[in-house]
Amino acid sequence: MSVAESHILPVYGPPEQNFVRGEGCWIWDDKGDKYLDCIAGIAVNALGHASPILVKALTEQAGKLWHTSNMFKIAGQEELAAKYTRDSFADVVFFTNSGTEAIEGALKTARKYHTANGNPERIDIIGFQGSFHGRSYAAINASGNPSYLDGFGPRLPGFIQVPFGDHDALKAAIGPTTAAVILEPVQGEGGVRAVPEQCLQGLRKLADEQGFLIIFDEVQSGAGRTGKMWAHQWSGIAPDIMAVAKGVGGGFPMGAFLATKEAAKGMVKGVHGTTFGGNPLAMAVGNACYDELSKPEFLERVNKVANQLGQALEGLKDRHPNLVVDVRGKGLLRGLKLKLDPKLIQEKLRDRKVLVGVAGDNVLRLAPPLVISESEISQAIDAIDAVLAAQMAEAGA
Ligand SMILES: *Cc1c(COP(=O)(O)O)cnc(C)c1O
Repeated sequence: MSVAESHILPVYGPPEQNFVRGEGCWIWDDKGDKYLDCIAGIAVNALGHASPILVKALTEQAGKLWHTSNMFKIAGQEELAAKYTRDSFADVVFFTNSGTEAIEGALKTARKYHTANGNPERIDIIGFQGSFHGRSYAAINASGNPSYLDGFGPRLPGFIQVPFGDHDALKAAIGPTTAAVILEPVQGEGGVRAVPEQCLQGLRKLADEQGFLIIFDEVQSGAGRTGKMWAHQWSGIAPDIMAVAKGVGGGFPMGAFLATKEAAKGMVKGVHGTTFGGNPLAMAVGNACYDELSKPEFLERVNKVANQLGQALEGLKDRHPNLVVDVRGKGLLRGLKLKLDPKLIQEKLRDRKVLVGVAGDNVLRLAPPLVISESEISQAIDAIDAVLAAQMAEAGA
């Protein structure tokens, strides 16, 4: 097929494959070729492709009611917010269509909190280098990747980034104008780096002493991906505000921000809103997805296969010490830090019909559907092993 002229804004530049059908961890292109999906639309298809549970929820709702707007009560929102708050630190939930909107709302909530407390000067949002929080104007200012800001005018005031893991720099940045610290418990795009649990605990202590809020961006690390519903739950501490998206809709575009009643005190009638966020279609899928993810046996299984994956990746590191520097991440959000460009390995894996992602800091990223089986993990590992071995042979030749 010749390459027809595309009318899509050329900001992505994806490879050739045109996927037309999926089932579980497998996805088929228009030529009938079958691929093992180990990236799941970047940690989105938590229950796999065409999950019968989600198909049923969506099609049933589609025959009843699609959209009414937030002018009216939406029962599915009440239901899902009750579940999210029952199982987490939060008291209130606002539903969005995407991760970046969840971040936007979280940032507004943090600043509004301080205004409501009579401290409108507390506007600074402190984040980390290498972090990713989305592509809206506020989100690119909050993210620790300056290239996303290039050419889009001046930086917004009140956004600061400190080096990842630099406790002294963080402490030095905190002051009387600090509104919140924002961080991903497991940094996704920046290189699949998990923040040590004691750092999260230390941050909580600091926040309580200094009166700033903690925002966790669990857009990628949440929805069961690390083996707990939210990655921060491994640490025993809680944020004041949390942004979620990606996996919570299992492939239907939805997200949310969650907050304690105290942190959300400034978010009163009229100060925020959305047309589509939390509409009946999204809520039908969101409820069905959460019901499945929150079954104890579901997360137990995630932990089991995640252990297998972790050990297998360590095995790859042992077998290919000249190519693999480090095994990163947590649960089913994993990375292999490589000594060569991970895009090269990604392409070679694609030739072998295995889909993986890449992340910053030379990392090959794996974020398969959470329903991946032990044998599917073995198949993915064997493919990576073969590609790395071929790479070594080529380098030696
Ligand atoms: C993907 C991502 C976002 C942005 O979500 P979108 O749905 O693409 O707007 C924000 N934060 C993190 C950690 C992400 O991985």
